[in-house]
Amino acid sequence: MKPLLSNQVALVTGGGRGIGQAICLELAKNGSYVIVNFRSDRKSAEQTLGLILQTGGKGETVCFDVTDPMETEKNIDALLKCHGTIDILINNAGVAADSLFVLMSSEEWTQVLNTTLQGFYNVTKPVLKQMVTKKRGFIVAISSVSARLGHRGQTNYSAAKAGLEGACRSLAAEVARLGIRVNVVAPGLIETEMIQDFPREMIKQIIPMGRVGLPEEVARVVRFLCSDDASYITGQVISVNGGMI
Ligand code: NDP
Repeated sequence: MKPLLSNQVALVTGGGRGIGQAICLELAKNGSYVIVNFRSDRKSAEQTLGLILQTGGKGETVCFDVTDPMETEKNIDALLKCHGTIDILINNAGVAADSLFVLMSSEEWTQVLNTTLQGFYNVTKPVLKQMVTKKRGFIVAISSVSARLGHRGQTNYSAAKAGLEGACRSLAAEVARLGIRVNVVAPGLIETEMIQDFPREMIKQIIPMGRVGLPEEVARVVRFLCSDDASYITGQVISVNGGMI
């Protein structure tokens, strides 16, 4: 049987580790050529590519910081020249800089918003242009349960992720008739470096399923949204959070 995503070129921002790595592996396993973006952690990105190649997949790594508009556009233009297309875009790169609002520095506020929101703009715009021309494409952004549920110390992160969800809903409406689907996956607590300081004793209290999620459990939903199995789904936020409501 033909793989679900064969002949698709996918770009995953922040694809070197955590949820991004799991998405890269899942898309590659399903036949996509996967471009693994990283900002600083070259070693992890190369390990991700190594895992893709070991399992018979194809891909490459590319270094750019999504907050830098010129560097991002230059790299995406080069990728488009080389491959002729980017069919799947996963806006996964994200950072947290938790602090109580009264103590939050302007840098902590700006870094989180820049990565999530400015990063979404910088990456999506050049990728979308060629999707519009081809009248086909799949965009998924990784938000968070924090977009919807308030958490102490996360005003910057919640604002960024809620903004991302709003941007995706509007973009989905703009491009729906052009054959481009835009969706959001909103994970709860997922076992990656990002939650290494989270107090484990709270997990059973706040997650109805009583455990954190695995990156692969997010990646499988992303893969579904990028496939024709999700052909009538756009502008949606799909939660992957063990029942946090
Ligand atoms: P990690 O901290 O493990 O990984 C973050 C990734 O983002 C890294 O690969 C990093 O690349 C990349 N990144 C950060 N800033 C930039 C940038 N400016 N340009 C390019 N890449 C960048 O996080 P997770 O895997 O946990 O998180 C992935 C996404 O999922 C994020 O958007 C996060 O907000 C979201 N999320 C995570 C949850 C969790 O519980 N883990 C819960 C809800 C949402 P490099 O190392 O090269 O800098």
